[in-house]
Amino acid sequence: MPSFVIDEKCDGCKGGDKTACMYICPNDLMVLDPNAMKAYNQEPDQCWECFSCVKICPTQAIEVRGYSDFVPLGSSIMPMMGTEDVMWTCKFRNGLIKRFKFPIRTTPEGEANAYNSLKGKDLDSQLLSTEEADGYSIPKPQALA
Ligand code: SF4
Ligand code: SF4
Repeated sequence: MPSFVIDEKCDGCKGGDKTACMYICPNDLMVLDPNAMKAYNQEPDQCWECFSCVKICPTQAIEVRGYSDFVPLGSSIMPMMGTEDVMWTCKFRNGLIKRFKFPIRTTPEGEANAYNSLKGKDLDSQLLSTEEADGYSIPKPQALA
């Protein structure tokens, strides 16, 4: 299900020129109602549930209800963005809570190069770019730049 804003938690990013959710949405879906100072998803059908707005919202006012195969009714999943990682809080239906931390990319904006990892690879080979000649295709961990 697409993102939705919990009005009580949204403070309109305190009236800045552009709210955090407007800045981050790759599909330009989030807009701010300047009268109510609340953001909303203007076209839920176009939301691809990337969770970017959920992660960046400073007041945790945005939620995305995941598909039931990975978030069944009664459970929830919520990311919280830190400076070096994203903490995911998973609440299971039986009340169990688990948290996982994943590092975030620290490459400066505009400097990411998707082709760096392909340097030196034989792109005419029949192998996948992550596949080794011995048949294994486990990608090697990449250092965070
Ligand atoms: S980022 Fe969060 S607090 Fe800011 S406008 Fe969007 S929903 Fe509201
Ligand atoms: S989940 Fe992604 S696509 Fe949907 S509104 Fe949020 S940032 Fe935009």
